[in-house]
Amino acid sequence: MADMNKGMTRRNFFGLGALTAAGAAVAGLAGCAPSSQTESGATTASASETASSSTAAVDWLGVEPEVADSDITSTLDTDFLIIGAGTAGMAAAATATDLGLDFILCEKDQVVQETREYVGIVNAQDAIAQGGETDPKKLLNELTRYASGRCNQEVIKVWIDESNEYLEWVNEKMLAADKPPVMDMPGQSDHQTGGTDYYIPALQHVWMTPYVPPMRNDVMQTTVENAGNEILFGYTLVKLIHGDGKVTGAIFDTEDGKVQINAKDTLLATGGYPANPVMVSALQPATLTCVTSSSYSPKDDGYGLRAGIWAGGKKDADPAPMIFDRGAVEVGVNAGYVGTGANAAFPGTIFQENIGSQPFMKVNRNGVRFANESTPYDFICFQAGQQPGGVWCTVFDANAPQDILRFDTIGCSAYAKQMMAVGMPIEEFCAMSLDAGVMKKADTIEDLADQLGFEGEAKENFLNQVERYNAQFDAQSDDDFGKEAYRLSALRTPPFYGCWFGGTLLTTLDGLQINKDCQVLDADGNVIEGFYAAGDVSGSFFSGNYPEYIVGVASGRSSVQGRHVARLLAGDLTA
Ligand SMILES: Cc1cc2nc3c(=O)[nH]c(=O)nc-3n(C[C@H](O)[C@H](O)[C@H](O)COP(=O)(O)OP(=O)(O)OC[C@H]3O[C@@H](n4cnc5c(N)ncnc54)[C@H](O)[C@@H]3O)c2cc1C
Repeated sequence: MADMNKGMTRRNFFGLGALTAAGAAVAGLAGCAPSSQTESGATTASASETASSSTAAVDWLGVEPEVADSDITSTLDTDFLIIGAGTAGMAAAATATDLGLDFILCEKDQVVQETREYVGIVNAQDAIAQGGETDPKKLLNELTRYASGRCNQEVIKVWIDESNEYLEWVNEKMLAADKPPVMDMPGQSDHQTGGTDYYIPALQHVWMTPYVPPMRNDVMQTTVENAGNEILFGYTLVKLIHGDGKVTGAIFDTEDGKVQINAKDTLLATGGYPANPVMVSALQPATLTCVTSSSYSPKDDGYGLRAGIWAGGKKDADPAPMIFDRGAVEVGVNAGYVGTGANAAFPGTIFQENIGSQPFMKVNRNGVRFANESTPYDFICFQAGQQPGGVWCTVFDANAPQDILRFDTIGCSAYAKQMMAVGMPIEEFCAMSLDAGVMKKADTIEDLADQLGFEGEAKENFLNQVERYNAQFDAQSDDDFGKEAYRLSALRTPPFYGCWFGGTLLTTLDGLQINKDCQVLDADGNVIEGFYAAGDVSGSFFSGNYPEYIVGVASGRSSVQGRHVARLLAGDLTA
């Protein structure tokens, strides 16, 4: 694979030939390429078992476990304890390694977390060279607007101010591993989208070739281990050691019993809580109305967040789910969990049907459009949450490849454009849904309507809606919802395709409130000494949604925060 990368220049990546050359590797682009839920090991259920959402009040927090001194089988001491070997934890550990900190990294799994490849970097040299300069103040206020002000601008600024430094540091390691960076959204900033003025800065970085090892977390692991540090795998957090406004370490379950690690400083980097249906049910009401599928790490079960609250931390008041519009489902499946309590699961079996993010015509169960389809991924999901069943149906025709090229979407939905540009047939692109019979194909719109389950008045509505949409395409004007003309498409050329979708849950972004140095705050806003949180377990950054047009901000801020804490403790940050 390394040899294959060598011939690929930045230009031919953008020229998209490289993506084809990368073949299967790129086709596996997690979070972007079609993928099915069976891979995640999550349970599935048939459409008939699908229940509507339930928000029953439950004790999601539980009680901190008590651990007797006699139960501790061994004790370790360190300056810096890092809990969780994911995006934030690996950036912290590799930085701590480079800066010579005495640290211990504990991870409950036997491997580091999968790398999330798209990283948002503000004003990287390569972006500026391509005319993609970002206005940092505008970006700060755009993120604040997405969060409806329920954020801490000082926290957001750390990512904006330090992401370029992070990029330079990590690039050196990636280049040494034969993985050159790619600034993956040239000239996109002035894209009209969403029927209003979004700020879309050029931030998105990936490393050639995406999802071909070694990936970022692997490279970080090499940094850590080559310097003689051991990652303690199979260490599952039981509780933080706390008292008198301080955290002084943590206790872990291990195969050798309970291990206590005393630390001057502790960084919690255990991710969000998407894999905990009890927490999601209690804390993410909008998610229950519109999500059909799971695309999260089953390891991210929110235990770290609960432990942080037990230690005195205060959680963001409002939810912030990361939901993509790619949960393809069979006719008749509703959004929301099937089952209750800890056994609840989303019903969909396909969680990343990438074409779901294309702004084709989308209708509800009554056969009518209900929203501007040209928006950040989660907006159509949230609006579908107010429609019957919380789902919507996407419809396109044989001209989809040209439509997708013209739509020119950003972020990882651009994968569709990249594949169309290299001539991938649309049926190959949608093979997973088509082969599963979830996506329907017909020679006439009428037959498509039948296959999609429209009956009676809904079928009539649907047929009228197609005509109306075609007329709007001809007039180049969406007089219903104000979608940009270039994102309209005609539905006249067979074969016709349609597929029902709900949202797919990737992670949660509401967590422990922190200050700019990632120090966890208590209910009175005071710093809990020795206690830091970074990445999805931390809060103060997002609220209500994931700002998908600020591409890569989740991975970007998690990485920068992890590095920031290690630099802070090493005295490597100037005031
Ligand atoms: C499929 C997918 C694709 C994504 N793609 C992108 C992308 O391209 N760009 C982007 O910006 N964002 C992306 N995201 C979101 C992004 O991955 C997260 O916001 C970010 O990685 C969070 O980093 P983290 O370190 O907080 O959590 P994670 O990277 O999830 O790491 C958490 C770690 O903590 C460990 N852990 C959990 N509980 C415990 C415990 N009790 N004890 C010990 N260890 C524990 C876990 O095993 C895991 O290794 C994606 C998310 C998903 C699910």
